[in-house]
Amino acid sequence: MRTVAVTRIGSLRATDEGDRGRIGVVDLPEHPLGPEDVRIRVAYAAICGSDPHLAEGFFGTDVPIGLGHEVSGVVEALGERATRNGLRVGDRVAGNFLRFCGTCRPCQEGRQQFCEHIQDYNRPGMSETVTWHESQVYRLPESVTLLQGCLLEPVSVAVRIADKTRIRVGDRVAVCGGGPIGQLALQVMSRYGATSLTMIEPIAERRALALRTGAEHVIDPVGEDQGQRALEITQGRGYDVVIDASGSTRAVRGLLDIAAKGATVIYGAMYPTGFELPLDLSEHLYLRELTLTGVFVSPYAFPRALQLLPHLQLEEMTQAVFDLEDAERAFEVHLSGRFPKVVIRCNAVEELV
Ligand SMILES: [Zn+2]
Ligand SMILES: [Zn+2]
Repeated sequence: MRTVAVTRIGSLRATDEGDRGRIGVVDLPEHPLGPEDVRIRVAYAAICGSDPHLAEGFFGTDVPIGLGHEVSGVVEALGERATRNGLRVGDRVAGNFLRFCGTCRPCQEGRQQFCEHIQDYNRPGMSETVTWHESQVYRLPESVTLLQGCLLEPVSVAVRIADKTRIRVGDRVAVCGGGPIGQLALQVMSRYGATSLTMIEPIAERRALALRTGAEHVIDPVGEDQGQRALEITQGRGYDVVIDASGSTRAVRGLLDIAAKGATVIYGAMYPTGFELPLDLSEHLYLRELTLTGVFVSPYAFPRALQLLPHLQLEEMTQAVFDLEDAERAFEVHLSGRFPKVVIRCNAVEELV
């Protein structure tokens, strides 16, 4: 089956052609359909900000590395026991690219993100088909299109970020980074009752998008004094919740300074291995009692992400669509930052439904 994959390890942004990572379309064997498995004919798979990190070899360097974990499609076949959630052939679905086994110690302790078998079903979804365990598959609501449905996984990340903020209604919230996760986190926090809701983002189009979808304020961290603006917006107190969705080593440095006393700061992105952030233990943890945390993957978040999907504004995140065979071009457009999200159409969708 045709699958988008990393075919050479390296930064996709490398200026020297010889060092640059490569994305291509390869033929990979289809996984056999186990008795509890679901085979999905993939409609759409979105490019994630983490995909270029995979090209750099973050999770391994044996190529080809199949890509795609933000997937929607139509159920093509069910194993004989894969019916416990009422799935049927022809259902429009999306899902969690990870299967949490439910059996290992972390799973039994309510910490599925640390499942010891988390990779067993992590299969590339930017592909003609993907075969998952039935526990990974969710039927899409009627009102959600297959194109919007491929955003279930990033929405689940926004839900998990929201969980980790432990927000209370009325808390002042800042989101740093107006990529897909930042935009979705902003919308989710808005529904959670966030106030002074602020998007910090250097690209004007992304600030404008945030203003259309719930932000009360925007800060341009390059053109404005971020610390000063944050103080103005929060009456000199700072934000109760600060979310980084930028993954930018430059952007994250200033975030502790705009956090209020007792605030929670979530580093909700991927960061370069070995990157260290200066932390003033006396100022940040003793005097201001900040809680710092991060987000790896999104356990326990998919059912609620599914509930939220029809209520989110996803139109502007589903405008750039490329066919599977044009994946290399799609990644170039992704890296250009011209669209908040780039989506790969893995099959002729009209024939699926
Ligand atoms: Zn992702
Ligand atoms: Zn487990």
